[in-house]
Amino acid sequence: MHVDLAVVGTGLAGLSLARAASGLSVALIGDAPAPMPAGGAFDTRVYAVTPGNAEFLDGLGAWRRLPRDRVAPVYAMRVFGDDGRAELAFDAYRAGVPALAWIAEDAALQAALYAALGQDERVQRLVPERLVRLQLEPDAARLELAGGRVLRARLVAGADGARSVVREQAGIGVRRTAYGQRGVVANFRCERAHRGTAYQWFRGGAVLALLPLPGEQVSMVWSVADDEAERLLALGPDALAGEVGAACGQVLGELRLVGAARAYPLQRMAAERTVAARVALLGDAAHVIHPLAGQGANLGLQDARQLAQVLAAREPGRDAGDERLLRRYARARAGEVWAMDATVHGLYRLFASRARPVAALRNAGLNLAGRLPVLKDLLMRQAMT
Ligand SMILES: Cc1cc2nc3c(=O)[nH]c(=O)nc-3n(C[C@H](O)[C@H](O)[C@H](O)COP(=O)(O)OP(=O)(O)OC[C@H]3O[C@@H](n4cnc5c(N)ncnc54)[C@H](O)[C@@H]3O)c2cc1C
Repeated sequence: MHVDLAVVGTGLAGLSLARAASGLSVALIGDAPAPMPAGGAFDTRVYAVTPGNAEFLDGLGAWRRLPRDRVAPVYAMRVFGDDGRAELAFDAYRAGVPALAWIAEDAALQAALYAALGQDERVQRLVPERLVRLQLEPDAARLELAGGRVLRARLVAGADGARSVVREQAGIGVRRTAYGQRGVVANFRCERAHRGTAYQWFRGGAVLALLPLPGEQVSMVWSVADDEAERLLALGPDALAGEVGAACGQVLGELRLVGAARAYPLQRMAAERTVAARVALLGDAAHVIHPLAGQGANLGLQDARQLAQVLAAREPGRDAGDERLLRRYARARAGEVWAMDATVHGLYRLFASRARPVAALRNAGLNLAGRLPVLKDLLMRQAMT
């Protein structure tokens, strides 16, 4: 088989690139989409999709395929410091937008993109499959798949996550820092209406976020030290709900756990290069950031959008795997990815610091940002792109 583009990985980055790469023949290689949770329960992996990405997904025919009763708008956001007083608040009304973000499940987004791809004759879905070996030859990349199939592609897009085989076999190194934290995720039914408000509490190095789900449920991401994550996971449903309720000052009344809690190790990672001849990396294969700003999946979607745009705008006759062409993609994404990583890591370090002057300063900073409309608007706009 010979294609213009082989996309390795069927997470949000890979699926959206396969769909967005108009005019190219595409082979999509990876797992089948994860099944939706049984019994109408919500996936514990949910994302706050920015308005910019909702628009991108709409253009791909995926957004309208999301069941409306599984998507929740975020009308307001409240961020609290660790002195019990500092607060930063955003709201959609002030920003002049219908919603600051939309909360949608990973499984539902994947299913919607996958269904949209089903109508796209350019895309051959080699699913389920795995890439086992990649050879970069002068005129094509040669991919060997676990099922024994071999294909050649002008360009290989590595959207195969943080442990990317494409990245490793292309000889691209990484800079990696383990946070020594895990993100504990769980869903809760809440006693009081959340009114579309997303909450976040910075408590030293720990960060607790509650995102609104339809039907008076919330999705939690609690980033805590590894041993604390173990302790939380070992608690019974009522004890865990009680601890979360206490940590958030019972802002939503009593909480009841729905389904089971899970935990993901947290790391910061950046590929030393995002492109090479016949290779482009996107999503977590290129960069992994702390989930405190809920922007990892959003960055991957924007990578896909940008790479598809660069490929569509290439000069007639220009090879899709030409490294000079791919550098346009790398340059176009470098600024936003760098700024997001620096902001997120900076915030993490600011709140993880135990030094007293730093603690006073960070809370003062939150209050100040809340009182300066220009700074606040800037922060808001960055989070909504
Ligand atoms: C606790 C937590 C909470 C988060 N919350 C948010 C949030 O609120 N908002 C947000 O924007 N982001 C969030 N993120 C980040 C987000 O989950 C990731 O950035 C996003 O899932 C990355 O998508 P991806 O498509 O790049 O990679 P992945 O989702 O990791 O997909 C990679 C795919 O490649 C496949 N694959 C791997 N190896 C091979 C191979 N050899 N051959 C074929 N296929 C292969 C895998 O099976 C997988 O399907 C969070 C992360 C964590 C840990």
